[in-house]
Amino acid sequence: MSTAAQIWPDAKGRFGPYGGRYVPETLVAPLEELERAYDDARKDPSFQKELDYLLKNFAGRPTPLQFASRLTEHLGGPRIYIKREDLLHTGAHKINNCIGQGLLAVRMGKRRVIAETGAGQHGVATATVAARLGLECVVYMGVDDMERQKLNVFRMRLLGAEVVGVNSGTRTLKDAINEAMRDWVTNVRSTHYLLGSVLGAHPYPMMVRDFHRVIGIEARAQILAAEKRLPDLLVACVGGGSNAIGLFHAFLNDSSVKMLGVEAGGRGTTLGEHAARMAAAAGYSGARPGVLQGTYSYVLQTADGQIANTHSVSAGLDYPAIGPEHAWLADQHRAEYTAVSDDQAVAAARTLARMEGIIPALESAHALGELITRAPKMSRDAIVIVNLSGRGDKDMEILARYL
Ligand SMILES: *Cc1c(COP(=O)(O)O)cnc(C)c1O
Repeated sequence: MSTAAQIWPDAKGRFGPYGGRYVPETLVAPLEELERAYDDARKDPSFQKELDYLLKNFAGRPTPLQFASRLTEHLGGPRIYIKREDLLHTGAHKINNCIGQGLLAVRMGKRRVIAETGAGQHGVATATVAARLGLECVVYMGVDDMERQKLNVFRMRLLGAEVVGVNSGTRTLKDAINEAMRDWVTNVRSTHYLLGSVLGAHPYPMMVRDFHRVIGIEARAQILAAEKRLPDLLVACVGGGSNAIGLFHAFLNDSSVKMLGVEAGGRGTTLGEHAARMAAAAGYSGARPGVLQGTYSYVLQTADGQIANTHSVSAGLDYPAIGPEHAWLADQHRAEYTAVSDDQAVAAARTLARMEGIIPALESAHALGELITRAPKMSRDAIVIVNLSGRGDKDMEILARYL
């Protein structure tokens, strides 16, 4: 694993057997164009400089690594540090990637960005960056999701984005993805598809990871400054997997650092009740390798290969596939994956609010939920970093209903 961590994916966009490029013929050329443009950009100091400027002055980086002294004392286990991605502009890590891809769109001469969104968080981050960079922005969203997430629809429109309701199929994220793909095929010369997690065809999983690597790079330097040594464990929630890989990546070569990804256990282990793709060992059923949204990875599916319904109290974890690099890290036993239920996540959100004065996003609360379970059994000398991927303001209605 030691050097392998630096070279994945391979030239074909593969992480072991996962990843790749499973797209219609018409998208092969645009993906190759994107791959070349990204490769140029990442070697160009002026691109890095612009990216760093916006991450610092627009998004609010670096984010603090806070010692959670009361939570540490309360759990009686390891020393817990919280990486505060919740303090970023728009309230979550998603902006890191949106700034990166937005700048890339400008560099490629594309004046229009499109995105799909389920809960609206990625749509809001995309609309925010598009406004800052003066790009036209169209966001596809299932009409049922629009109804559920009215406030985010309003935010996007206020930021100048066009929100297009998708009325086909289940009228949710899956259908919005299909519409966004159709738009991209039609308008590929003027348009960049701004994908929101480490999913999709190559180069997206690599590129989105790279734009979030800053989380782990900062955290590594911050923990070395605070504790004079590396942490024993990293914990992060996993929807598509972007905040988790963002934290993990800078530590992949440090064999003493264990990594734990936490998926949505929802209401139970039966297919349809959860969004746990990598937690078969814990009894969660329905995940097998398959292709979704252009990439080969673990996908929740029915016996005859239809994409399964999923459930989670947190919209950001409610997705049937996981990023291919996570599937590979799991196969290599480099990272461990588990799931936390809706109830546990809500309880963890409450605990963090009361112990540390931070209301976490329900996604991030899944990472905390697993940490709360494990911490009392861990050594007091151990050090843990948990990624607080976002703040909980967006979840107040759900929390109020739940409690
Ligand atoms: C979208 C989101 C997630 C899940 O996405 P990943 O790509 O798995 O990081 C997690 N936390 C928050 C706060 C989100 O908004």
